[in-house]
Amino acid sequence: DNAQPKKPDWIRVKAPTGKGYRETHKIMRDHNLVTVCEEAGCPNAGECWSQGHATMMIMGEICTRGCTFCNVATGRPEALDVFEPGRVADAVQKLGLNHVVITSVDRDDIDDGGAEHFAQTIRAIRHRSPGTTIEILTPDFLHCESSVLETVVAAKPDVFNHNLETVPSLYPSVRPGARYFHSLRLLQRVKEIDPTMFTKSGIMVGLGENRQSVHQVMDDMRAADIDFLTIGQYLQPSPKHHAVDRFVHPDEFAAYEKAAYGKGFLMVSATPLTRSSYHAGDDFARLREA
Ligand code: SF4
Ligand code: SF4
Repeated sequence: DNAQPKKPDWIRVKAPTGKGYRETHKIMRDHNLVTVCEEAGCPNAGECWSQGHATMMIMGEICTRGCTFCNVATGRPEALDVFEPGRVADAVQKLGLNHVVITSVDRDDIDDGGAEHFAQTIRAIRHRSPGTTIEILTPDFLHCESSVLETVVAAKPDVFNHNLETVPSLYPSVRPGARYFHSLRLLQRVKEIDPTMFTKSGIMVGLGENRQSVHQVMDDMRAADIDFLTIGQYLQPSPKHHAVDRFVHPDEFAAYEKAAYGKGFLMVSATPLTRSSYHAGDDFARLREA
């Protein structure tokens, strides 16, 4: 039975319009950049792009993984574009951002998983926009030598984000090819390599998890010293993708947020429309001022 629960009215998508939105769109096109905002059909694009907040997705549009919630195409990717870090840095400068989020597809086809490309992108942004804080949302580097993580951390992003995406029992159906404890350990190692770096992770709810397992994930994250947490509602990109199990009520999100602060996270965003990169800059700026 493919019947999906009806979308509640707290999931409202504002149509993307306005000058700011169009400018962001143009900068992305002119620099031949891919955004996760578009790839994922993110419901926040109207709001984010009007402020120049586009999350660029590097290393191509084709991913070597096939997560069942994700709208990015799976297949054999093209070779890395050596000019991409420069184009990203140029776009970040034009957008004039205080904080930028850079993500990527997964590149199991490359020995270092794209670690050096990530590092070059961070360095290029830093060079052109020294005042911009940089958040990276990385793949899991599952099949790589463990030293590749040091390559990325050495480039000194301000926030190292890697999403656990869901609770461990749902990995086989939601994130096949990934390993829950590997991802957790990756974030813990970031903190061990550079204790001053902020680490961040997130999950989607509405995939079939229960509350208790969400609390377990939060505890696991804190045991791995993860600083920031995001929890958002899973939305099905197309009927081919993983079904929505339920729409989690805003009160349940509020309860997760409260519990998460109680467990010691420094920054938490848990709302139906929370995404990994949603308001990431505002939240980070508030934390640094505090
Ligand atoms: Fe893009 Fe993130 Fe904003 Fe969505 S929440 S539009 S992915 S920046
Ligand atoms: Fe999508 Fe990332 Fe999974 Fe690739 S690894 S399918 S980009 S969620």
